[in-house]
Amino acid sequence: MENMTVTYEEALASALSFVHIQGVHEVLLPDAVGEILARDVLADRNIPPFRRAAMDGFAVVWTGEEPERTYRVAGTVNPGVEWRGDVTGADCIKIMTGAMVPAPFDTVIQVEHAHTEHTGHVRFGTSARRGQNIAAEGEDVLKGAVLMPTGTLLSPHHLTTLASVGRWKVPVFKRPSIAILATGGELVEPWESASGPMIRNGNAHFLLAALKELGYREVRYLGVVPDDREAMMAKIREGITFDFLLVSGGVSMGDVDIVPDCLEACGVRKILHRIAVKPGKPIFAGESPGGSVVIGLPGNPVAVIVHFYMFIRPLLLKASGTTEYLPKPILLPLAEEAVNRSGRKKFSIGRLEREGGDSRVVEIPSHGSGDFVSTSRAEGVFEIPLGATRLPAGEIVRFYPIWGNFLSQEW
Ligand code: AMP
Ligand code: MG
Repeated sequence: MENMTVTYEEALASALSFVHIQGVHEVLLPDAVGEILARDVLADRNIPPFRRAAMDGFAVVWTGEEPERTYRVAGTVNPGVEWRGDVTGADCIKIMTGAMVPAPFDTVIQVEHAHTEHTGHVRFGTSARRGQNIAAEGEDVLKGAVLMPTGTLLSPHHLTTLASVGRWKVPVFKRPSIAILATGGELVEPWESASGPMIRNGNAHFLLAALKELGYREVRYLGVVPDDREAMMAKIREGITFDFLLVSGGVSMGDVDIVPDCLEACGVRKILHRIAVKPGKPIFAGESPGGSVVIGLPGNPVAVIVHFYMFIRPLLLKASGTTEYLPKPILLPLAEEAVNRSGRKKFSIGRLEREGGDSRVVEIPSHGSGDFVSTSRAEGVFEIPLGATRLPAGEIVRFYPIWGNFLSQEW
């Protein structure tokens, strides 16, 4: 596909085909969040592992005549204790939530419905259903069942399951190593003063933060390089010793956009360089002789912020072993008309707003891909498909919630 423009989907599919998994290592449970399971996680016991009281109350042998008599109480069973006492002649046993229900009892009546008489006997103020308030052994899953498959990206709630089946050591895929390079003779760092034609390097610091948030630890910042062949090639040679090299700037059509040439001179083979997408048209993808994946993003900050999530994160996630790595859209109506004069697929920045009982996508006004300030209120992007020039208010769009915390001042 030499200099051809490809669709966003084709571009992503072809770049993804160059990405491979790095191998497996073990981490301890507290460090597993954000990692990707490299082995299926199985139930080591039935879940629940025993007949468990689901309420505080009294366990009885169900007869259907519970409210009509008094019950003698044999004792109390607390969680974590196996009742070994005699229950012969006893009518019921006091039991706490989480405790193992002893035989022959089969039904738990909540403490709220029990009245203790001065004799110590109890009387129930309600009828009961056989088996109520007892979780059967294995009713959630049976021992040996697959609870979470290989490729699961672990969130905190997955750690409940890992901990519950005794996975203190968790086999996860190794993460790729990543180098970041910012290019441009106009760039100074945030701690330096900027005047005249100079601007501050926002992109590299965004990329470093985004990688940190995703839990990538083997990350090297190669700094800023001016648009100078020798200097740039030296940095590229260093960058391609990492599994990924992410380059900002220098991939467009200008005289100083020398990144693709320099990459080629360092042996990087082009996979693609032009995508029918706005922003992000000049995105470059290539592969180094050693198998590193090199992505060159145009320097416009909005393109970098959008395509870290829409293009780069899928590659990183696939290399990290997840089975799900594409951003998943939510289908929602547009609040206002949205236009696309680019002739390419457009990712417009937006946020969700409540309208009565519904959520709608509100486009955030932007002066274009240099207008990084416009992204600060954005929660994600929505898609205006290739070929569509105008979407009316109310049109259902694919909204990708890539940045939002989805928090609000009111319900
Ligand atoms: P380029 O893709 O190199 O032509 O850059 C496109 C635009 O993005 C230019 O206005 C650059 O000044 C700007 N730019 C390039 N790199 C960065 C960066 N690291 N941080 C912020 N803006 C940048
Ligand atoms: Mg540049």
